[in-house]
Amino acid sequence: MRIELVEVGPRDGLQSESVVLPTATKIALIERLIQAGLRRIEVASFVNPKRVPQMADAEAVLAGLPKHEGVSYIGLVLNMKGLERARAAGCDAIGMAIVASETFNRRNQGVSTEESIAAWREIANLARSVGIAPNITISTAFGCPFEGEIAPDRVLDIALRCAESDPVEIALADTIGVAVPTQVEDLFGRLRERLPAMPLRGHFHNTRNTALANVHAAIAAGVRAIDSSVGGIGGCPFAPAATGNVPTEDVLYMLNRMGIETGVSIDQMIDTARWLEQQIGKTVPGMLIKAGNFPNGPRAICGHVQA
Ligand code: MG
Repeated sequence: MRIELVEVGPRDGLQSESVVLPTATKIALIERLIQAGLRRIEVASFVNPKRVPQMADAEAVLAGLPKHEGVSYIGLVLNMKGLERARAAGCDAIGMAIVASETFNRRNQGVSTEESIAAWREIANLARSVGIAPNITISTAFGCPFEGEIAPDRVLDIALRCAESDPVEIALADTIGVAVPTQVEDLFGRLRERLPAMPLRGHFHNTRNTALANVHAAIAAGVRAIDSSVGGIGGCPFAPAATGNVPTEDVLYMLNRMGIETGVSIDQMIDTARWLEQQIGKTVPGMLIKAGNFPNGPRAICGHVQA
Protein backbone atom coordinates (compact mmCIF):
# COMPACT_ATOMS: atom_id res chain seq x y z
CA MET A 1 0.00 0.00 0.00
CA ARG A 2 1.10 3.57 -0.62
CA ILE A 3 0.02 6.71 1.25
CA GLU A 4 0.64 10.18 -0.12
CA LEU A 5 1.74 12.70 2.48
CA VAL A 6 0.70 16.30 1.85
CA GLU A 7 3.05 18.56 3.80
CA VAL A 8 1.19 21.49 5.39
CA GLY A 9 3.95 22.81 7.70
CA PRO A 10 4.86 25.89 5.63
CA ARG A 11 1.21 27.07 5.67
CA ASP A 12 -1.06 25.50 8.30
CA GLY A 13 1.99 25.00 10.52
CA LEU A 14 3.75 28.36 10.29
CA GLN A 15 0.47 30.29 10.16
CA SER A 16 -0.23 29.39 13.79
CA GLU A 17 3.29 30.04 15.07
CA SER A 18 3.88 33.40 16.76
CA VAL A 19 7.29 33.85 15.12
CA VAL A 20 7.20 35.14 11.53
CA LEU A 21 9.96 33.45 9.53
CA PRO A 22 11.86 35.42 6.86
CA THR A 23 10.89 34.55 3.28
CA ALA A 24 14.31 32.99 2.61
CA THR A 25 13.90 30.66 5.61
CA LYS A 26 10.46 29.56 4.39
CA ILE A 27 11.95 28.81 0.96
CA ALA A 28 14.82 26.87 2.56
CA LEU A 29 12.28 24.85 4.57
CA ILE A 30 10.24 23.99 1.48
CA GLU A 31 13.38 22.95 -0.43
CA ARG A 32 14.35 20.64 2.44
CA LEU A 33 10.87 19.08 2.35
CA ILE A 34 11.23 18.46 -1.39
CA GLN A 35 14.67 16.92 -0.86
CA ALA A 36 13.12 14.60 1.73
CA GLY A 37 10.72 13.31 -0.92
CA LEU A 38 7.50 15.28 -0.36
CA ARG A 39 5.67 16.10 -3.59
CA ARG A 40 2.57 18.02 -2.51
CA ILE A 41 3.37 20.97 -0.27
CA GLU A 42 1.05 23.69 1.01
CA VAL A 43 3.43 26.63 0.69
CA ALA A 44 1.42 29.80 1.26
CA SER A 45 -1.94 31.34 1.98
CA PHE A 46 -3.56 33.90 -0.32
CA VAL A 47 -5.87 35.42 2.24
CA ASN A 48 -5.97 38.94 3.68
CA PRO A 49 -2.41 39.60 4.96
CA LYS A 50 -3.83 41.84 7.68
CA ARG A 51 -5.61 38.81 9.14
CA VAL A 52 -2.72 36.38 8.68
CA PRO A 53 0.54 38.38 8.85
CA GLN A 54 2.62 35.16 8.88
CA MET A 55 1.55 34.60 5.26
CA ALA A 56 1.92 38.19 3.99
CA ASP A 57 4.89 37.21 1.78
CA ALA A 58 2.98 34.54 -0.18
CA GLU A 59 3.94 35.98 -3.59
CA ALA A 60 7.61 36.32 -2.61
CA VAL A 61 7.73 32.71 -1.36
CA LEU A 62 6.36 31.42 -4.66
CA ALA A 63 8.70 33.66 -6.65
CA GLY A 64 11.69 32.22 -4.80
CA LEU A 65 10.75 28.55 -5.20
CA PRO A 66 12.47 26.60 -7.98
CA LYS A 67 10.29 24.49 -10.28
CA HIS A 68 10.72 20.80 -9.56
CA GLU A 69 9.37 18.08 -11.81
CA GLY A 70 6.47 16.36 -10.08
CA VAL A 71 6.25 18.82 -7.17
CA SER A 72 2.94 20.56 -6.57
CA TYR A 73 2.97 23.88 -4.72
CA ILE A 74 -0.41 24.42 -3.11
CA GLY A 75 -1.72 27.86 -2.13
CA LEU A 76 -4.67 28.25 0.24
CA VAL A 77 -7.46 30.42 -1.17
CA LEU A 78 -10.88 31.26 0.21
CA ASN A 79 -12.35 33.27 -2.69
CA MET A 80 -11.84 34.29 -6.32
CA LYS A 81 -9.46 37.07 -5.37
CA GLY A 82 -7.28 34.47 -3.65
CA LEU A 83 -7.37 32.27 -6.75
CA GLU A 84 -6.26 35.17 -8.95
CA ARG A 85 -3.33 35.84 -6.62
CA ALA A 86 -2.37 32.16 -6.47
CA ARG A 87 -2.55 31.90 -10.24
CA ALA A 88 -0.43 35.02 -10.79
CA ALA A 89 2.11 33.72 -8.25
CA GLY A 90 2.45 30.44 -10.15
CA CYS A 91 0.82 27.91 -7.80
CA ASP A 92 0.40 24.41 -9.27
CA ALA A 93 -2.61 23.76 -7.08
CA ILE A 94 -4.99 25.64 -4.83
CA GLY A 95 -6.53 24.44 -1.62
CA MET A 96 -9.90 25.77 -0.57
CA ALA A 97 -11.51 25.20 2.81
CA ILE A 98 -15.24 25.12 3.41
CA VAL A 99 -16.26 24.96 7.05
CA ALA A 100 -19.06 22.52 7.90
CA SER A 101 -19.96 24.71 10.87
CA GLU A 102 -21.98 27.72 9.72
CA THR A 103 -20.75 29.85 12.63
CA PHE A 104 -17.10 28.99 12.03
CA ASN A 105 -17.39 29.61 8.27
CA ARG A 106 -18.85 33.07 8.86
CA ARG A 107 -16.14 33.92 11.40
CA ASN A 108 -13.30 32.53 9.27
CA GLN A 109 -14.30 33.56 5.77
CA GLY A 110 -16.96 36.21 6.36
CA VAL A 111 -19.66 34.41 4.33
CA SER A 112 -22.13 31.55 4.82
CA THR A 113 -21.19 27.93 4.14
CA GLU A 114 -23.61 28.06 1.20
CA GLU A 115 -21.76 31.06 -0.28
CA SER A 116 -18.45 29.24 0.17
CA ILE A 117 -19.81 26.22 -1.73
CA ALA A 118 -20.86 28.54 -4.57
CA ALA A 119 -17.40 30.17 -4.53
CA TRP A 120 -15.77 26.73 -4.61
CA ARG A 121 -17.66 25.87 -7.80
CA GLU A 122 -16.39 28.99 -9.55
CA ILE A 123 -12.87 28.57 -8.18
CA ALA A 124 -12.63 24.88 -9.10
CA ASN A 125 -13.91 25.50 -12.64
CA LEU A 126 -11.59 28.42 -13.33
CA ALA A 127 -8.62 26.63 -11.73
CA ARG A 128 -9.17 23.52 -13.89
CA SER A 129 -9.47 25.65 -17.02
CA VAL A 130 -6.03 27.18 -16.42
CA GLY A 131 -4.30 23.96 -15.38
CA ILE A 132 -4.36 24.48 -11.60
CA ALA A 133 -5.39 21.45 -9.53
CA PRO A 134 -8.27 22.27 -7.17
CA ASN A 135 -8.02 20.77 -3.67
CA ILE A 136 -10.97 20.99 -1.29
CA THR A 137 -11.03 20.49 2.47
CA ILE A 138 -14.16 20.37 4.61
CA SER A 139 -13.13 21.88 7.92
CA THR A 140 -14.51 21.18 11.41
CA ALA A 141 -15.90 17.92 10.00
CA PHE A 142 -15.56 16.24 13.40
CA GLY A 143 -16.44 19.09 15.74
CA CYS A 144 -16.58 22.88 16.06
CA PRO A 145 -15.47 25.21 18.87
CA PHE A 146 -18.69 27.24 18.51
CA GLU A 147 -21.34 24.69 17.56
CA GLY A 148 -19.98 21.54 19.22
CA GLU A 149 -20.85 18.31 17.43
CA ILE A 150 -21.32 18.54 13.66
CA ALA A 151 -24.00 16.29 12.13
CA PRO A 152 -22.35 13.74 9.81
CA ASP A 153 -25.15 14.22 7.27
CA ARG A 154 -24.26 17.89 6.97
CA VAL A 155 -20.61 17.03 6.25
CA LEU A 156 -21.66 14.40 3.69
CA ASP A 157 -24.04 16.81 1.98
CA ILE A 158 -21.29 19.45 1.61
CA ALA A 159 -18.83 16.80 0.40
CA LEU A 160 -21.21 15.48 -2.26
CA ARG A 161 -21.85 18.97 -3.58
CA CYS A 162 -18.12 19.81 -3.63
CA ALA A 163 -17.45 16.56 -5.48
CA GLU A 164 -19.51 17.79 -8.44
CA SER A 165 -16.72 20.24 -9.33
CA ASP A 166 -14.09 17.55 -9.94
CA PRO A 167 -11.65 18.16 -7.06
CA VAL A 168 -8.31 16.34 -6.75
CA GLU A 169 -9.90 14.54 -3.82
CA ILE A 170 -12.21 15.26 -0.90
CA ALA A 171 -10.57 15.98 2.45
CA LEU A 172 -12.22 15.95 5.84
CA ALA A 173 -10.42 18.02 8.47
CA ASP A 174 -10.37 17.77 12.24
CA THR A 175 -9.50 21.46 12.40
CA ILE A 176 -9.48 21.75 16.20
CA GLY A 177 -8.33 18.24 17.09
CA VAL A 178 -11.39 16.70 18.73
CA ALA A 179 -11.94 13.59 16.56
CA VAL A 180 -11.54 10.02 17.77
CA PRO A 181 -10.77 6.98 15.57
CA THR A 182 -14.27 5.44 15.59
CA GLN A 183 -15.72 8.75 14.39
CA VAL A 184 -13.04 9.06 11.70
CA GLU A 185 -13.63 5.55 10.41
CA ASP A 186 -17.40 6.06 10.44
CA LEU A 187 -17.45 9.41 8.61
CA PHE A 188 -14.86 8.47 5.97
CA GLY A 189 -16.60 5.11 5.58
CA ARG A 190 -19.92 6.82 4.87
CA LEU A 191 -18.24 9.21 2.44
CA ARG A 192 -16.64 6.31 0.62
CA GLU A 193 -20.01 4.56 0.33
CA ARG A 194 -21.50 7.65 -1.29
CA LEU A 195 -18.47 8.46 -3.50
CA PRO A 196 -16.72 5.13 -4.14
CA ALA A 197 -14.47 6.48 -6.94
CA MET A 198 -13.42 9.72 -5.20
CA PRO A 199 -9.92 9.78 -3.62
CA LEU A 200 -9.99 10.85 0.04
CA ARG A 201 -7.58 12.83 2.23
CA GLY A 202 -7.48 13.26 6.00
CA HIS A 203 -6.32 16.33 7.96
CA PHE A 204 -5.76 15.86 11.68
CA HIS A 205 -4.56 18.04 14.53
CA ASN A 206 -2.99 16.55 17.63
CA THR A 207 -4.69 18.95 20.04
CA ARG A 208 -5.89 16.06 22.26
CA ASN A 209 -3.26 13.47 21.32
CA THR A 210 -5.56 11.49 19.01
CA ALA A 211 -4.13 12.53 15.63
CA LEU A 212 -1.96 9.48 14.93
CA ALA A 213 -4.78 7.14 15.93
CA ASN A 214 -7.05 9.09 13.60
CA VAL A 215 -4.55 8.74 10.74
CA HIS A 216 -4.62 4.99 11.24
CA ALA A 217 -8.42 4.93 11.33
CA ALA A 218 -8.63 7.04 8.18
CA ILE A 219 -6.34 4.67 6.30
CA ALA A 220 -8.43 1.73 7.48
CA ALA A 221 -11.46 3.53 6.01
CA GLY A 222 -9.80 3.87 2.59
CA VAL A 223 -8.12 7.29 2.85
CA ARG A 224 -4.95 7.38 0.75
CA ALA A 225 -3.62 10.92 1.36
CA ILE A 226 -2.76 12.45 4.74
CA ASP A 227 -1.94 16.06 5.62
CA SER A 228 0.91 16.40 8.12
CA SER A 229 3.37 19.07 9.24
CA VAL A 230 7.10 18.84 9.84
CA GLY A 231 7.75 18.66 13.58
CA GLY A 232 4.01 18.83 14.24
CA ILE A 233 4.03 22.63 14.22
CA GLY A 234 0.76 24.49 13.91
CA GLY A 235 -1.00 24.80 17.23
CA CYS A 236 -4.71 25.34 17.49
CA PRO A 237 -6.24 28.84 17.52
CA PHE A 238 -8.87 27.70 20.05
CA ALA A 239 -6.46 25.97 22.44
CA PRO A 240 -3.44 28.29 22.77
CA ALA A 241 -1.21 25.78 24.59
CA ALA A 242 -2.02 22.87 22.29
CA THR A 243 0.18 20.96 19.86
CA GLY A 244 -0.29 21.32 16.11
CA ASN A 245 -0.89 19.21 13.01
CA VAL A 246 0.02 15.54 13.16
CA PRO A 247 3.85 15.48 12.82
CA THR A 248 5.12 14.24 9.44
CA GLU A 249 8.01 12.24 10.96
CA ASP A 250 5.70 10.53 13.48
CA VAL A 251 3.30 9.53 10.71
CA LEU A 252 6.26 8.32 8.65
CA TYR A 253 7.54 6.18 11.53
CA MET A 254 4.17 4.47 11.93
CA LEU A 255 3.66 3.92 8.20
CA ASN A 256 7.23 2.67 7.64
CA ARG A 257 6.91 0.09 10.41
CA MET A 258 3.53 -0.97 9.00
CA GLY A 259 5.12 -1.59 5.61
CA ILE A 260 3.25 1.30 3.95
CA GLU A 261 5.23 3.28 1.35
CA THR A 262 5.38 7.07 1.17
CA GLY A 263 8.57 7.85 -0.77
CA VAL A 264 9.65 10.24 2.00
CA SER A 265 12.94 9.92 3.91
CA ILE A 266 12.41 9.67 7.66
CA ASP A 267 16.04 10.64 8.40
CA GLN A 268 15.81 13.79 6.27
CA MET A 269 12.52 14.71 7.92
CA ILE A 270 14.07 14.30 11.38
CA ASP A 271 16.96 16.54 10.30
CA THR A 272 14.53 19.10 8.93
CA ALA A 273 12.41 19.11 12.09
CA ARG A 274 15.58 19.73 14.15
CA TRP A 275 16.65 22.49 11.76
CA LEU A 276 13.17 24.03 12.05
CA GLU A 277 13.46 24.12 15.85
CA GLN A 278 16.47 26.39 15.45
CA GLN A 279 14.63 28.65 13.02
CA ILE A 280 11.54 29.12 15.20
CA GLY A 281 13.56 29.19 18.42
CA LYS A 282 11.63 26.53 20.31
CA THR A 283 11.09 22.80 20.48
CA VAL A 284 8.49 21.28 18.16
CA PRO A 285 5.76 18.90 19.40
CA GLY A 286 6.81 15.86 17.32
CA MET A 287 7.80 12.77 19.30
CA LEU A 288 10.11 11.01 16.85
CA ILE A 289 12.83 13.65 16.91
CA LYS A 290 13.02 13.16 20.68
CA ALA A 291 12.99 9.35 20.70
CA GLY A 292 14.86 8.70 17.43
CA ASN A 293 14.09 6.24 14.71
CA PHE A 294 13.97 2.48 15.32
CA PRO A 295 15.73 0.19 14.54
CA ASN A 296 18.20 2.57 12.86
CA GLY A 297 18.51 5.41 15.36
CA PRO A 298 20.58 5.61 18.53
CA ARG A 299 18.77 4.01 21.44
CA ALA A 300 18.36 5.89 24.68
CA ILE A 301 18.39 3.46 27.61
CA CYS A 302 17.83 4.80 31.10
CA GLY A 303 18.92 8.23 29.99
CA HIS A 304 22.19 7.06 28.42
CA VAL A 305 22.51 7.32 24.67
CA GLN A 306 24.13 4.22 23.21
CA ALA A 307 25.52 4.38 19.70
MG1 MG B 1 -5.43 22.66 10.02
